[in-house]
Amino acid sequence: MAVLGEKIEAIYQQVKARNPGEEEFHQAVKEVLESLGPVLVKYPDFAEQRIIERICEPERQIIFRVPWQDDKGQVQINRGFRVEFNSALGPYKGGIRFHPSVYLGIIKFLGFEQIFKNALTGMPIGGGKGGSDFDPKGKSSNEIMRFCQSFMTELARHLGEHTDVPAGDIGVGGREIGYMFGQYKRITNRYESGVLTGKGIGWGGSLVRTEATGYGTVFFVREMLKARKNSLEGKTCVVSGSGNVAIYTIEKLNQLGAKVIACSDSNGIIVHEKGIDLALVKTLKEVERRRIADYASYHKDAKYIAGGNIWEVPCEIAFPSATQNEINGKDAKTLVKNGCIAVGEGANMPTTPEGVKVFLDAKIAYGPGKAANAGGVATSALEMQQNASRDSWSFEFTEKKLDEIMTGIHATAWETAEEFGASGNYVLGANIGGFIKVARAMVAHGLI
Ligand code: NDP
Repeated sequence: MAVLGEKIEAIYQQVKARNPGEEEFHQAVKEVLESLGPVLVKYPDFAEQRIIERICEPERQIIFRVPWQDDKGQVQINRGFRVEFNSALGPYKGGIRFHPSVYLGIIKFLGFEQIFKNALTGMPIGGGKGGSDFDPKGKSSNEIMRFCQSFMTELARHLGEHTDVPAGDIGVGGREIGYMFGQYKRITNRYESGVLTGKGIGWGGSLVRTEATGYGTVFFVREMLKARKNSLEGKTCVVSGSGNVAIYTIEKLNQLGAKVIACSDSNGIIVHEKGIDLALVKTLKEVERRRIADYASYHKDAKYIAGGNIWEVPCEIAFPSATQNEINGKDAKTLVKNGCIAVGEGANMPTTPEGVKVFLDAKIAYGPGKAANAGGVATSALEMQQNASRDSWSFEFTEKKLDEIMTGIHATAWETAEEFGASGNYVLGANIGGFIKVARAMVAHGLI
């Protein structure tokens, strides 16, 4: 990684001192700051206005108690978060994560990344993120509902279609969005469709939103390969995770002629050389909410490796689609050694800084999450557009828009990298491309 210039290093040290112990947030900030040196040279007013310092400080951070009752009648307490990071380009926008690992540092890293990702989409949305340390695993549907209702009872006062618009993330899918929307409607006495995205079809949701992050990541990788006069056709791929992003990454890869031979969950990996049976994964994960280990009992030629490392499965293209820091330096070296030519990050910050360096040094096509997985939030913005005009678009029309947006994000990241003398470096291209859009709006809005 590049060394930070003196001024930027001082900003980074201040961020660390002001946000002690929030390692994921420090990592996300450092990665962006490392790209910004040349921007301050080209746009001195950004330095005068202290735009970087202001961008690193969330506009508002909300932390709250979430009390709920389990099926045994026992009282449980969790902690809820919403970080409203930046509203220069539009209402705060970003998902809600339910996972036991959630704490302020995770929500801040995600919210920070979201600012630049959302700017890259070209849609009028600011950056935010929320969540709770609630663990949905093993909970009944009634427990999930009671938790979501309690979570929204407090969060509702901070939201609004023009203020802050959450969506799903790890542990939060259509079911949870439904429970939260119902509670918001009950508390506010308003049918405010645009206050949450990822809603069900038939009550304000958009076609393609469920598929959008996975499909969008594949479109981004298709563009990276096109820029290298290559294609997805016939490529062997590995996709980590088996949740929303992983499932629809596999679906689009299959449609575009690639073959996915492995996927995973947090307990282990499935390797199926014939090609992953997507219909089975959907049934196990989306309908029956079971573990990926069960896949092997339906296909005798598939192998389940408990605790296995998916990055050791040789592939041409890797799609990390589970969680942050899932590819370390050693994994990245293994991937490159085994002939990996491209990485499309469906997850947020799935590669450690050491891993990113390996990919950049090897000059493979490396699409960082804030560019590659922006299709989810972009389609959320399309959902907001449909809600505002009380309209609903066809699947084909919406998917075409998603494709155009992803192609546009690729072009912005590619061209920005060229302009700043780092040809093919999508990390630099995405960071600078997103930053400039937000910085210009912040300067225009004055000191607020
Ligand atoms: P889901 O909850 O649907 O699926 C997450 C998957 O990743 C599951 O298979 C889960 O396995 C696995 N996983 C989660 N945490 C860990 C962990 N600590 N170690 C190993 N595996 C883990 O979430 P999504 O598919 O929605 O999100 C996946 C990633 O994509 C996240 O980084 C998210 O921020 C990012 N993303 C999601 C968007 C969306 O629209 N949903 C948009 C943009 C980015 P298990 O069931 O065992 O926990």
